[in-house]
Amino acid sequence: MNLDEIRRQCENCKGCELYRTRNNLVFGAGNQNADIFFIGEGPGENEDREGMPFVGRSGKLLDETLNKFGLSRDKNVYIANMVKCRPPENRDPKKDEVTACIGFLKAQIEAVNPKVVVCLGRVSASYFLGKDFKVTKQHGEFKEIDGRLFTATFHPAAILRNINNKPLFEEDIAKIKENDK
Ligand code: SF4
Repeated sequence: MNLDEIRRQCENCKGCELYRTRNNLVFGAGNQNADIFFIGEGPGENEDREGMPFVGRSGKLLDETLNKFGLSRDKNVYIANMVKCRPPENRDPKKDEVTACIGFLKAQIEAVNPKVVVCLGRVSASYFLGKDFKVTKQHGEFKEIDGRLFTATFHPAAILRNINNKPLFEEDIAKIKENDK
């Protein structure tokens, strides 16, 4: 399936209750042949309003950090979330919501076919890298899964809450850039 076909399926999806309260589907954005694929948790208020992943302050921080290392959504990065519709009150997506939605994300990864997949924060890291994965301790570690490199780093919103971790976040992005070759 290509990304347009996956998007059409998402637009018509009633696979979990989140479709009832969303304003906009947040499918994903970026270069369709990107070497690096970032995975967030779920759309927040700004994303739901604009229909785009990682907008607002955390999106700005992510884009600025990517740009610093020669990465951008236009050129070499694709970004999507674990769930495509906003969980109310910015709560984490529930297990059944992730289960209902994860097939779309996996299909997106297959369609983009990146070299490196980067989990942003605990929700996506625990799904792809193991439920006991601790982002604070294991960020920047790489693991090969089905012929693709997976890693995790801090969610940009967590960096905004604790700016002391920004140098670690930047180190991880630099390493990710090195591993996309
Ligand atoms: S979050 Fe995913 S599974 Fe749930 S309604 Fe939206 S697209 Fe469908």
